[in-house]
Amino acid sequence: MTIRLPSELVAAGLAPPEQLADLARVADRYAIAITPEIAALIDRADPNDPIARQFVPDIAELATTPDERADPIGDDAHARVAGIVHRYPDRVLLKLVNVCAVYCRFCFRRETIGPGKQMLTPAELDGALAYIRAHPDIWEVILTGGDPLVLSARRLGELMRCIAPIGHVKIIRIHTRVPVASPERVTSSLVRALKASGKTTYVALHANHPRELTPAVRAACARIVDAGIPMVSQSVLLRGVNDDAKTLEELMRAFVECRIKPYYLHHADLAPGTSHFRTSIADGQALMRALRGRVSGLAQPTYVLDIPGGHGKVPVGPGYIDMCADAGAVVEDINGVKREY
Ligand SMILES: *Cc1c(COP(=O)(O)O)cnc(C)c1O
Ligand code: SF4
Repeated sequence: MTIRLPSELVAAGLAPPEQLADLARVADRYAIAITPEIAALIDRADPNDPIARQFVPDIAELATTPDERADPIGDDAHARVAGIVHRYPDRVLLKLVNVCAVYCRFCFRRETIGPGKQMLTPAELDGALAYIRAHPDIWEVILTGGDPLVLSARRLGELMRCIAPIGHVKIIRIHTRVPVASPERVTSSLVRALKASGKTTYVALHANHPRELTPAVRAACARIVDAGIPMVSQSVLLRGVNDDAKTLEELMRAFVECRIKPYYLHHADLAPGTSHFRTSIADGQALMRALRGRVSGLAQPTYVLDIPGGHGKVPVGPGYIDMCADAGAVVEDINGVKREY
C-alpha cells in the first residue's frame, strides 16, 4: 500500500516516532505518497539515503526563503484556458491531473498538486482541446501535471483519440515518474494507449538517482521503447541526492543503457520549502564539466534553468568558449586548458 500519512511513515520505519508532530505539520501543507516500490528502495540504516531524501517529508520543508515562490516557473503567467500553459509558440503543456503516484519533496508544482486537487472536468478538457485545435502553431502537446500516467489506459486512449484528428499536432510528449514509482502500472495496454494515429509519442522519464532504475523499472521502460516510443530523461540536480559527479555519471549511463536519451538536468526551482535541496549554479556547472569528456556524448544532458517569472528554460552552461574581437575564439578543452581557435 502507498504510504500517505505520517503515522504510516513511522510504522514503516521511515521516520522516528518523535517526529510525528512535525511531520503532521508538513503533511498539512504538502502531499505525501511513497509507493511500495519506492519504500523498498530506501535504506533505513542510512540517515542520508538519497531515495528517502527525495520522498520522505522533512521538517525543513516548513522553512520558506524570501526568494522562493508558489509558482516558481511562472505557469500562471502563461495559463490560457484551464489545463493549458502556452509559453512557447510551438508547444503547450496540457495538465490533465493534479495527482502523482509519488510526491517529490522538491516538486516545482508542489503548491498546485496533491489529492483533492483533482483532474480537469470533462468541460475543461473540451475547452483545452478546443484551444489546441484553434492554434495551428501548436506542433507538440506535452502531457504533464501531476503525472498523466496515473490515468487508466482507457482514459489515456480516449484522450489520444481526441488529439489524433488535430492535423497540426505532430508530437505528443508525456512527462512521468510512474515507471519509477509503480513500474507494474506500465502494462502493454497502457503503452498501447499512449500512441495516437498519425502522431509521434515521446515519453520523458523523471529520475534522479541511479538506484531508481531497478530491474523492474528498466523492464517497464523497455516495454515503452520496444513499442516504438522513444524515451528521454529529465532529472533535477538535488543537494544530497545526485550533486556529485559519480552519481550523476551512473545515472546518465543507466539512462543510456535503458535506451533513454538524457535530455535535461534541471537546476532546482525556487519552490517553497526546498532550499535544503538547491545547489548553486556554479556547482551545477562544475558537475557538467566533470561529465563532459569522462562520459559518452550520448550520456550528456543539457543543464537548464527555468527562469523565475515564466521566462522559459535556458541552458546555463558551463560555457567553453570566449569570442575574440577578431572573430577568433579561445576555447577551453576538457582538461580546462585554453586553446586558440
Ligand atoms: C518546460 C516547458 C515546456 C517544454 O520545454 P522543452 O524545452 O521543449 O522541453 C513547454 N512549456 C512550458 C510552459 C514549460 O515549462
Ligand atoms: S512526479 Fe513531478 S509533478 Fe509529481 S511530485 Fe514529483 S516532480 Fe512534482
